Amino acid sequence: MADIIDGKAFAEGLRARVATVAADFEAKAGRKAGLAVVLVGEDPASQVYVRNKGKQTLACGMASFEHKLPADTSEADLLALVDRLNADPAVDGILVQLPLPAHMNEQKVIATINPDKDVDGFHVVNVGRLATGLPGYVPCTPLGCVMLLKDKLGSLSGLDAVVIGRSNIVGKPMAQLLIAESCTVTVAHSRTKDLPAAVRRADIVVAAVGRPEMVKGDWLKPGATVIDVGINRVPAAEEGKTRLVGDVDFASASEVAGAITPVPGGVGPMTIAVLLRNTIVAAHRAADLAFDESAL
Ligand code: NAP
Repeated sequence: MADIIDGKAFAEGLRARVATVAADFEAKAGRKAGLAVVLVGEDPASQVYVRNKGKQTLACGMASFEHKLPADTSEADLLALVDRLNADPAVDGILVQLPLPAHMNEQKVIATINPDKDVDGFHVVNVGRLATGLPGYVPCTPLGCVMLLKDKLGSLSGLDAVVIGRSNIVGKPMAQLLIAESCTVTVAHSRTKDLPAAVRRADIVVAAVGRPEMVKGDWLKPGATVIDVGINRVPAAEEGKTRLVGDVDFASASEVAGAITPVPGGVGPMTIAVLLRNTIVAAHRAADLAFDESAL
């Protein structure tokens, strides 16, 4: 049976380290580090994420600025708010919750965020910094996956990795991070010819697809480390109820893998913890205060 990679416990530890650093930052800078989160509209899942981000920001001893705008807000008004947050010295990190309503151009909104406050790491400047190995901000979910992998495996150098999915939010930055860790990386997607064969070569499998339980145990190399990013809601056995499953068939995969993240309780809790980590990093950079980022 595979070891279970406990992302919930790791995320708790990371949040505790962030809280310690945040208290130290406040003592030195004379102000709290601050994260602004902007939500447009009433998407129920986004409302839950934003509420959790706000709660966890406060719990880490940082300032939380929530901006909830109605769904019919104009793009110009949203851009004006982002400009105000860019100029506000109390705000170190800005996150605009996606997806935005259809009448808004997401790329334009992300491009308006000051790259030095872009704690989500979606601005093209940060995408370019990641690709070229410059310090910047890395998207939270894939950075969380690499933290879990390094915690479990130590050095990833020389390992074969397959990333299933090539989205800007997960798959592509995940591949960049694994290249930076000196893995040999294959990026698979919906046009990949023989996905099970590609997966079978890998020491590390990262599944970020959005298809419930797609990756089967008999696709895996025995002993592989499996990171399941997928969050899929499927009908539960009990009538009218649902449950969460990943992109990996946990029952069969855990028979073959060496280690695996569960869903829920694996990658999911890492995303907000890394967002808080990125925010405290941004605060130190803004205040020109040195600290060891690798200690987080
Ligand atoms: P996405 O933008 O929909 O991208 C999905 C990727 O999977 C695409 O690159 C797609 O290929 C590929 N794909 C689709 N069907 C495939 C198939 N049959 N075989 C191989 N590849 C296939 O999704 P995402 O935003 O990256 O999210 C992926 C999953 O992670 C979702 O379940 C999402 O809910 C979850 N997620 C979790 C967190 C978290 O834990 N905090 C954060 C973000 C996302 P093409 O490019 O060819 O279409």
